[in-house]
Amino acid sequence: MVQIKDVKGNTRDHRTATHTHIKGLGLGEDDFAEKQSEGFVGQTVAREACGIIVDLIRAKKMSGRAVLLAGGPGTGKTALALAISHELGTKVPFCPMVGIREMKDVLEGEVTELTPEEAENPLGGYGRTISTLVIGIKTTRGTKKLRLDPSVYEALQRERVTVGDVIYLEQTTGACKRVGRSDAYATEFDLEAEEYVPIPKGAVHKRKEIVQDVTLHDPDFANSRPQDGQDMMSMMGQLMKPKMTDITDKLREEINKVVNRYIDQGVAEIVPGVLFIDEAHMLDIECFTYLNRALESTMSPIVILASNRGMCTIHGTEDIVAAHGIPPDLLARLLIIPTNAYDADEIKRIIQIRVKTEGLAITEPALEKIAEHGIQTSLRYALQLLTPASILAHVSRRHEIDVLDVGKCEDLFIDTRRSAAIANGANSGENKLLS
Ligand code: ATP
Repeated sequence: MVQIKDVKGNTRDHRTATHTHIKGLGLGEDDFAEKQSEGFVGQTVAREACGIIVDLIRAKKMSGRAVLLAGGPGTGKTALALAISHELGTKVPFCPMVGIREMKDVLEGEVTELTPEEAENPLGGYGRTISTLVIGIKTTRGTKKLRLDPSVYEALQRERVTVGDVIYLEQTTGACKRVGRSDAYATEFDLEAEEYVPIPKGAVHKRKEIVQDVTLHDPDFANSRPQDGQDMMSMMGQLMKPKMTDITDKLREEINKVVNRYIDQGVAEIVPGVLFIDEAHMLDIECFTYLNRALESTMSPIVILASNRGMCTIHGTEDIVAAHGIPPDLLARLLIIPTNAYDADEIKRIIQIRVKTEGLAITEPALEKIAEHGIQTSLRYALQLLTPASILAHVSRRHEIDVLDVGKCEDLFIDTRRSAAIANGANSGENKLLS
């Protein structure tokens, strides 16, 4: 058995997510995709098309449009969307959503309080952190990002802070406690020493600028109120979830006004995040209508949809069949990028990259065996076998994953096709356990 003590470091540094190996689109200086670069293998045409999307976004020419990545399962659609956000820079949040149907799940509605992890990494793509609002405020010392705290925005709004104003912050445990206009009692945030240095009144106009990155989630959250009129069931629901609050249309309008004012005054700039909606065919007609309208907004994030379906019924309609289950009027606004299946060599290379990323070792025959699954079954299944196989190798005191480990994993974890066959058998009465 694997002992718990053998399972090493679960810190951020040690964790590898599905797309950890993807560092960018891997385009050369001439904008052509190299066969293997920045973690990406093959899919060169789609990567080059994504490179053009990045250029369009940088040139602010994406307004009113969105992107659709269309292709079979495991052909790298999510990886491409993530690579686009990497290419746009570290400030760009990547917000993935999967298979949503409900209107309120798209861009508006309820928000939950950020967990400590989310608060620590507000741009990491958690929750509904979609776009970033960068606020520059004049102070004496250089540039520093302040820790995110909703009270900052409440205060900015209340005090109507504008360019030239000095804010003072009182810091206790790293979080901003108070923000207001400079006055006789003002204390200035000392960026180097992280202490407060009293400054004489009026000595504020020859100051440098500091830039603060906040997300549009934060003013929403800071200004939203707990829901009223809850019945017993919803109150019970509240107990199960972190604090739920309601973002009304009026609140959204007010916040938009404030944000627009900052933008007009040159105090703030919107850095659109990437909203990635996987399984876009799951959205219903109401969501599509909303998205259509939202794409026109100046605060719209970059919307990237993905679907692995061909012709299918649009959800929320009786029987309207459309390509990817997306209404034709929205489809017409999309730049559609197809993704293709991988050949054997590409699959092997992707598996090799994952072996390296996960810090594993594998024998050549075992690699061939896993790659064969990538060809015959799916790339996802092949990649999923790696970690369990490495655990089996570890248990058998081997340093490399061997063919034996892969074989054992095939028996322990079945692929979707075998699973479906078992379920079908159950339906026809062959397997009583599943019936
Ligand atoms: P689905 O339609 O099932 O949502 P998808 O097209 O979004 O699938 P991904 O999730 O992007 O597929 O890819 C599956 C796995 O394979 C991920 O770990 C991804 O990082 C990796 N992968 C896919 N394509 C490539 C590639 N060209 N180079 C490197 N890794 C890849």
